[in-house]
Amino acid sequence: MYELLANDPDSSARLGRLTTPHGVIDTPCFMPVGTQGTVKTMTPEELRELGAQIILGNTYHLNLRPGVPIIEKAGGLHRFMGWDGPILTDSGGYQVFSLAKLRKLSDDGVEFQSHIDGATCFLGPREAMQIQQKLGSDIAIVLDECPPWPCDRDSACKSVDRTLLWATRCREHGGNQEIFGIVQGSAYADLRERCARELVRIGFDGHAIGGVSVGEPEELMLQQVEWTTGHLPADKPRYAMGLGTPAQILEMIARGVDLFDCALPTRVARNGTAITQRGSVNVKVAAYKDDLRPVEEGCACYTCRRFTRAYVRHLFNAEEILGLRLLTIHNLHVYFRVLREARERIAAGTFAEFARGFSANYRRNNGEQRNA
Ligand SMILES: [Zn+2]
Repeated sequence: MYELLANDPDSSARLGRLTTPHGVIDTPCFMPVGTQGTVKTMTPEELRELGAQIILGNTYHLNLRPGVPIIEKAGGLHRFMGWDGPILTDSGGYQVFSLAKLRKLSDDGVEFQSHIDGATCFLGPREAMQIQQKLGSDIAIVLDECPPWPCDRDSACKSVDRTLLWATRCREHGGNQEIFGIVQGSAYADLRERCARELVRIGFDGHAIGGVSVGEPEELMLQQVEWTTGHLPADKPRYAMGLGTPAQILEMIARGVDLFDCALPTRVARNGTAITQRGSVNVKVAAYKDDLRPVEEGCACYTCRRFTRAYVRHLFNAEEILGLRLLTIHNLHVYFRVLREARERIAAGTFAEFARGFSANYRRNNGEQRNA
């Protein structure tokens, strides 16, 4: 259940609270990605300490390995992975379309070959909902067809039709989980509007914005979000799937989005990249060889309180596992810190100013160019 607590006076940013069987989530909220039933290198206790309130599990991966029967036998995904907080699972569709070898796509679902052992599998709306029920997640997502970018209008239109057909079937096969619909429609404002309106008519507990961050320029990504949120009800949470940098997340919050998931902070940490208020920094650079400052000056995370750039750089050069863990802790801390400040600023009515200042600083130092 979602409660809208406050609106920012100068943007569409919202402060809210989402209550699930495994706990309360303060929104806007960042959800770390636990693809294989683990947020890579972090224990559940460490995630809690960092401020995680909900994590994401990937249905596609868990279904192929270890397989749903084993997770069911363990008592569901919460028990299997030792995380007692809320879990959101995706439908698996996105990975089927991006990772697996497609065999046959029809209105019934999609037949594909596992990227692990080549086995032939089938995922339809009923299967997607049944798997998520067995995993026991707090929030389930409908199966959708996510078109690539760029996408011609005819294909975008067909993917909206199929997404709506599957959404209806997923709703019929839903159990006692909260279910979010997914708005598709690629870069076509009227298709996004139609998809959003139809999903609202079918009736979901929240709405995900899909088909964003699939290779399109950033300006278009923001526009697609704007075209979508305008047609979604204020009393349901909105979730932008697979986004983004801290600066992008603030832009989405300003457009009325409440939930975010992104593998970026944990993935780049394992390559030696620290995400800071001033953009991303590669800790393996030679300049850090004898730099005894913390990874980010002024950061209160465990890594920055205890260790130096020289030490973290050394760990990466020596291929020590602790290096991956220390940067993952720092990067997640930065995301949770930005989201916490966003919530405080919305409550205080000063979010827009904060978001502008943060973005300008982040992009200037990161050398990011806006795609106009
Ligand atoms: Zn830090």
